[in-house]
Amino acid sequence: MNQNASHFGEPATTFLKPHSGQGPVDLGRVVQAVARPGAPRPLRVDVAGGGPVGLIFACTLRSMLGDKVKIRVFDRRWMRRDGRIAWQGTAEGNNRREQVVTLQSNVWGQLPMLVRRRLFTPGNYSEMWPLGPDSPTHRGRPRNIKVRWIEDCLLEMAQDFYGIELVPEPYAQPKSWDGLDVLAICDGARSKTREDLKEAFGPSSRDLYSVGGTPLDETVLGIRIKGKVPDEHTVPLTVCQNRFLFNSLGGGFINMRLTAEEASEVLAYGENGPVPCIGKFGCTMRPDGDKFVCDRHRSVFKPSVDKLSFLWPRIADGVKFFGATMGDIVGITSFKLGMQQNPKFTAQLAPSTYAFLLGDAANSLHFWPGRGLNTGVKSVQSLAANLASRWAGRAFRAADFAPHEGLMQQLQYREKSRAWTTMLIPDENGLPRGIEDRIRAGLTSKEDRQALADTLYKRLLAVKSRLEGRMGALADDAWYRSRINSLDVKTLGVMVESGAWITREIGGDEVAVNIEVAPADTNASEPTRRAPSPQRPARPASRNIPVARTGPAGPRRPAGVS
Ligand SMILES: Cc1cc2nc3c(=O)[nH]c(=O)nc-3n(C[C@H](O)[C@H](O)[C@H](O)COP(=O)(O)OP(=O)(O)OC[C@H]3O[C@@H](n4cnc5c(N)ncnc54)[C@H](O)[C@@H]3O)c2cc1C
Repeated sequence: MNQNASHFGEPATTFLKPHSGQGPVDLGRVVQAVARPGAPRPLRVDVAGGGPVGLIFACTLRSMLGDKVKIRVFDRRWMRRDGRIAWQGTAEGNNRREQVVTLQSNVWGQLPMLVRRRLFTPGNYSEMWPLGPDSPTHRGRPRNIKVRWIEDCLLEMAQDFYGIELVPEPYAQPKSWDGLDVLAICDGARSKTREDLKEAFGPSSRDLYSVGGTPLDETVLGIRIKGKVPDEHTVPLTVCQNRFLFNSLGGGFINMRLTAEEASEVLAYGENGPVPCIGKFGCTMRPDGDKFVCDRHRSVFKPSVDKLSFLWPRIADGVKFFGATMGDIVGITSFKLGMQQNPKFTAQLAPSTYAFLLGDAANSLHFWPGRGLNTGVKSVQSLAANLASRWAGRAFRAADFAPHEGLMQQLQYREKSRAWTTMLIPDENGLPRGIEDRIRAGLTSKEDRQALADTLYKRLLAVKSRLEGRMGALADDAWYRSRINSLDVKTLGVMVESGAWITREIGGDEVAVNIEVAPADTNASEPTRRAPSPQRPARPASRNIPVARTGPAGPRRPAGVS
């Protein structure tokens, strides 16, 4: 049953005070309180999609507005279990995401304090990448964290602490928008809600992200391995080439960009031939003896059993490069990446109902520069601050959302330019050249092995010297030389031809969201209100809006999934 018509007349919810002090918080139970007579009516918000972005939005808005907001979040991957809302498992057809993401400190540093405390507990995050414009010294280094951990913690906090109504169903449009002020659309890159409301948001287009009239899509393999070496040691290996990217938290994903020919080998076979599995649904193939299999489809990953596979030895080389062995692989998956341009992110659905595209539903990005979730969290921090500063108990007007829409347009420009430059890397003459061309040229390179290894090593040493001093200790030069010497000549050719990370072209100022709304959270010490700086006078409270500003150029970032 879809519950879209329920709930808005219920009593307001108040937070239970958390324990003070550091470390994991006992989240306790939610306390019900009756709304004060005569108080302005609460802001009513529905959220379509309870992935990391939808849940961060809901918790952030509650932490800012407290009882002045009533929020429902819908997700089709949830179920009821023992009177609680929980994630569906593989038995229900839900493959939980295992990827490690890097959050910039401009982003994690502005999460509600209680959320930060819950997420960043020892062993559940690491600091692998260096400081940069979006992770300035005063806020700290970027942090690696698992998407699954973010989802688990926030689902728990949403129901146990923030008192958010969670609906384990796909979002469906109500018959009437009456009674709803805000619809936050957070249902991911293939957003059904955006599709259903396309007339309100206008047509998306892939034209800008096409080559010769064809939209550019890349296929990437995600090879999940157990960690063998300290996370940080692998950073120069990632940054000196563009074929493999390793993001880790004591183990993680080696991402491998493929040509179309290589992608054609990403197949799974069942008893009766090819099965739609890893190639179509991105299923994870796990080791089973000497092959890799999908439990769900009872199929086998073709390259792992095909003695003639040209892809399998290339996968093995990538694993070796990062100091691991084939025995360290715990799963292999694949995904496709492409981009589209959206005309706008804010739409009026009815006289007093506004809808907002957020997270991947707004901006689905190529993940090589590691900005998807960062951009998604910036988008929800911007909207939450905008709503909190403008809500006065009566219908919004379109003009109220100019600050947020402006920030969304800045984010789209900044992040898609960066991601597009990563997809079509300029060559030494500044001419864009797709990664597939580079990989093919590398595979047929005529250079001898020693020359290729020397070129890559020289490049790696240059990257290493730029990184030193901005992150923890790196491995010694001999270890990096041994990683390069372990590679096949074709892999060396690809790595040399793919080029080092183009840090100058994709670096520069970042779009920042400054949250200046005092939290209504239980915790009065929640430090999201920024002290007015001498250069910038404090604004009147009623005009505390998110400020989109391009950050000062901090230390130039040599690189980083950041
Ligand atoms: C390999 C890889 C590495 C990455 N690395 C980084 C990184 O280092 N840094 C970074 O910032 N980003 C990174 N990203 C991107 C990041 O993972 C995404 O940007 C982020 O997960 C998007 O979150 P979201 O909540 O917007 O969307 P999703 O995570 O897609 O969540 C959408 C939610 O909506 C639900 N849903 C869908 N349809 C409906 C419906 N009709 N009704 C109800 N619910 C619905 C889904 O069940 C899901 O829970 C990476 C991505 C990949 C693939």
